[in-house]
Amino acid sequence: MEIETQCLHEGYTPKNGEPRVVPIVQSTTYCFDSTEHIAQLFDMPTEYMYSRFANPTCDAVEKKIAALEGGVGAMLTSSGQSAVLCTVLNLCKAGDSLVAVSAIYGGVINLLSVTLNRLGIECIWVAPDSSEEVLRNAIKDNTKLVFGETIANPALRVLDLELFAKVAHEKQIPLVVDSTFATPILCKPIEWGADIVIHSTTKYMDGHAIQMGGVIVDSGKFDWSASPRFPDFVTPDESYHGVVYTRDFGAMAFIIKARMQLMRDFGCYQTPQGAFLLNLGLETLALRMERYSQNALEVAQHLKKSSKIESVSYPGLPSDIDYPLTQKYLKKGASGVITFVIKGGRAAAVRFMDAMKLASRVVHVADIRTCVLHPASSTHRQLTDQQLLAAGINPGMIRFSCGLEHISDIIEDIDQALEKV
Ligand SMILES: *Cc1c(COP(=O)(O)O)cnc(C)c1O
Repeated sequence: MEIETQCLHEGYTPKNGEPRVVPIVQSTTYCFDSTEHIAQLFDMPTEYMYSRFANPTCDAVEKKIAALEGGVGAMLTSSGQSAVLCTVLNLCKAGDSLVAVSAIYGGVINLLSVTLNRLGIECIWVAPDSSEEVLRNAIKDNTKLVFGETIANPALRVLDLELFAKVAHEKQIPLVVDSTFATPILCKPIEWGADIVIHSTTKYMDGHAIQMGGVIVDSGKFDWSASPRFPDFVTPDESYHGVVYTRDFGAMAFIIKARMQLMRDFGCYQTPQGAFLLNLGLETLALRMERYSQNALEVAQHLKKSSKIESVSYPGLPSDIDYPLTQKYLKKGASGVITFVIKGGRAAAVRFMDAMKLASRVVHVADIRTCVLHPASSTHRQLTDQQLLAAGINPGMIRFSCGLEHISDIIEDIDQALEKV
C-alpha cells in the first residue's frame, strides 16, 4: 500500500459484522476463564490485561503508526515528553550517558539536561551540523544512544540522518530520532538508518489541537545482542520471571521491553478515547502534510521579500542553510513551520504577534489553524541566552505554524500585522 492508503487502512481490518471504524474499548480491564490464565499473563503478557500499558484501541493505532514509519512495533504514550522519557530510560540507567543534538525542542532539552541529570544520566550536547569526527568523539564508553530531531523545533535544522546513523552504529548504539515535524509522510527516518523514531502526536499526527500524545516506533533493526552496551536486553529480567528480551521477542525486543518495564511501572499510556481521536487525525495526515508544506513555502517566500524582515528560516527555501539536506531527506515538502526575525528584535516580534488577527497566539504548533509563538518568552523561557543560541533561537524570533486556511488569507494577515510593526 502507498502511504495515503496506509493512513486509512493500516492497523484495523474489521471482520464480518464488526464495526467499520476502530471501536473505542473503554475498559480498564479484561476477563479470563481461569486464575491460571491470569497467572500466565503475569509471566508473559501476550494478551490485553490492564489498560495502564495495553488496550485494543491504542493497539490499532500503534500498528498503523508502526506501518507508516516502516517499523516492527510501536507504543503510544500520554505525551511527546513521556515518549522521550520512556525511550531514554529503556536504554540508560544512572551512570550512563546519551549524546543529543543541541538544537531540539525546549521541553526535551530541559528533560535531558535537568530532570534526567538528577537521576544520574548525563547528556552530552553536540551541534546539529557536527562532523563525523566530533560526533564520534562525543560518544563515551557509557553512552547508550544518539538523539536528534528530523526537523528541529523551533530551530528548523535538518538532521543529517545517514551521517548520525553511521557514527552511532560504528559505536554500536542506536540512533533515536524525534520526527514530530516531518511525520512519516515527509520523511521515514528508519529508511535512512534511524533505529527508534518518536513523535509528539500532539502536533501534526493529531493535527487538530485536541489532545496530548506521543508514540515510540521500533525499527526492529538494531542488533542488541551484538552490542556489548545493552546487558538488560540479553540477560533475564527478574521482574518478569526471567524473560530475555532479545531471545523471547527478537526484532521487537526494544518496544516490548519499553512496554513491559516502563509502561507497566509508569503508566504514562494513551487513553482509548485519545487513541481514537489520534486515529482520525492520522487518516488525513498525508493530505494535510502536503498542504502545510505548500502553504509554508509560499509564506516563507513572501516574508523573504519584505523589507521589515531581518531573516527567514525554512528548510524548503533554496537560501536555507540546510537546503541540501532538505533535498535529500524531505523530498515531499519541508513541513509547515517557519521561523523569522523581524527587524527591531524582541519588541518588534511582540508587536507583530499582538497585531495578528487570523493566526492564534497559542503555546502550540502544527495545528490545522495557523498559529504563532514567541519561543524566547514561552517554550524556551527556562533556557539561558547561551542555551537559546545553542538551540538556534534568536530572542526576536517568531515561530509561525502555517495552517490549512487559504494561502491568500494567511498572507493578508501577515501583511496587515507587519504594517503595524
Ligand atoms: C511538542 C514536542 C515535544 C513534546 O511533546 P508533548 O506532546 O508536548 O509532550 C517533543 N518533541 C518535539 C519535536 C515537539 O515539537
